[in-house]
Amino acid sequence: MNEEIFNKTKQTNKQKYDNGIYLKTQNFKDKSKQTCIKKYGVEYYSQTNISKKRYFNKISNELSNNYILLKFLNKFLSIKHKTCGKNFIIHRESYRTRIKRNHEICTICNPINKHWSVAEHRLFLYIKSIYNNIIIRNTFKIIC
Ligand SMILES: [Zn+2]
Repeated sequence: MNEEIFNKTKQTNKQKYDNGIYLKTQNFKDKSKQTCIKKYGVEYYSQTNISKKRYFNKISNELSNNYILLKFLNKFLSIKHKTCGKNFIIHRESYRTRIKRNHEICTICNPINKHWSVAEHRLFLYIKSIYNNIIIRNTFKIIC
């Protein structure tokens, strides 16, 4: 699409629809809901059992062999980490971020909102595996 056509389309959409994007209009939203209710009996496709099952399979396939997806809890996922043997609950957004960044997903092995980096936490886990005493974290004191 050349720039002239693009700008003309944009102008037309702005004149026809308040914000310039039909998908954002109340008319579209209402029509979409009505169609979904007619077809599936719910307001949004994501509320259907088919959609939930597809999402469950997608997450299950995405997880490495170290994890088992147990169930959905609204916006959270319940997952078992085979390595530590514990079940944990993680928000879908945190899960997505950890998958994208290739970080440890387990919130027990890699707690959320702790004040250390992933690299520091990996170092901690390594030290813990070879050292059986108290390990002091988050200190700027010189240890000697
Ligand atoms: Zn774990």
